[in-house]
Amino acid sequence: MAQPTGFKQEPHRLLTIPGPIEVADDVLYANAHYSVSHVGADFIPIFGDCIRMTRDVVFTQSGQPFIIAGSGTLGWDEVASNLVEPGENALVLHSGYFGDSFADCLETYGAKVTQIKAPVGEAVKMDQLKAALQEKKYKIVTVTHVDTSTGVLSDVKAVAQTVKEVSPDTLVIVDGVCSVASEEIKFDDWGLDVVLTASQKGLGTPPGLSILVFEQRKAPATSYYASWKRWLPIMKAYEAGTAAYFATPPVNLINAFYTSLKTITRSSMTVDERIKLHREASKRVKDAVSKLGLKQVATDPAFAANGMTAVYFPEGVTAPQVIPELLQQSIIVAGGLHKDIKDKYFRIGHMGVTAVDPSRGDIDKVIKGLNTTFAGLSANKQ
Ligand SMILES: *Cc1c(COP(=O)(O)O)cnc(C)c1O
Repeated sequence: MAQPTGFKQEPHRLLTIPGPIEVADDVLYANAHYSVSHVGADFIPIFGDCIRMTRDVVFTQSGQPFIIAGSGTLGWDEVASNLVEPGENALVLHSGYFGDSFADCLETYGAKVTQIKAPVGEAVKMDQLKAALQEKKYKIVTVTHVDTSTGVLSDVKAVAQTVKEVSPDTLVIVDGVCSVASEEIKFDDWGLDVVLTASQKGLGTPPGLSILVFEQRKAPATSYYASWKRWLPIMKAYEAGTAAYFATPPVNLINAFYTSLKTITRSSMTVDERIKLHREASKRVKDAVSKLGLKQVATDPAFAANGMTAVYFPEGVTAPQVIPELLQQSIIVAGGLHKDIKDKYFRIGHMGVTAVDPSRGDIDKVIKGLNTTFAGLSANKQ
């Protein structure tokens, strides 16, 4: 497919929520490609490369990517319907809102779900995980790498290690919707079984793609569209350079994803360097937040996400005093999501181009916006 050049998107408010994120001009323009056949010679290598480059993002040689029209949530349905049979046990490590939702999805397919719930702002501790695994046999353990409702980063490497030690048959499932391409993930080295994500967060593409990597084992299928058995021959065919049909892939969106993946995996910046730049951008935002005397939801800096920051309002301040004020300065942030603290905090996303391309000045703009907004609030108080 023709690759985009020279297009510039309209000036717009800066979107710094934890997904969807700002999208680069070339990615956006790739989505505006003229129609091509989903089984035609132009599209086949694009889809094949997307599959290969997805492996590179999470550092796997053998994991099988599934790139399917849908959102991140479809990944939960895929896990629930392909890996867990009704009545089997699933252990969900809960560090916020997305743990409850994943648990809900698993139960919809008949799994027996146990949740270990960390206090708000924390991740589940390894001794709790160990104790739970010793008590009962689980088919899968799920962990939210970054819980987007709290900005808490879980130690996925330690989770996988603990599971392999105590219960080696249990599969480790990572909800990486808010962490793939913004946090370190070493799929093969850490021994993960599934990482699931979506196009619109760290991967810097418009919403609409469910992206999942699975270390192949035998899997029953109790769904139709989400069945890996039906999608596997399709993914294998495109990767091998031929077409196959099960359901029409979102051709234009995959072309946009291809353009973003090329930047992520095949440009002068390596994936590891990209992760490092996310850490640096995150540190700048978090330092600015601390300087303003504001507290983060994540209680321990070692377990704070690098692609987003969740910040408590100061005592006596509410969302309507902050979020519209930032909007006035052309900055869009997100409100609270975790039900226990919903009205007490707000969330800033700093993933993708916002974090890795300093020439855009996005981080500067966010920091300036925060400074102006909170300085104005304390001035009003006096
Ligand atoms: C955004 C998000 C989801 C849901 O993804 P959708 O694309 O909205 O379906 C799931 N898990 C986490 C951790 C997320 O951040």
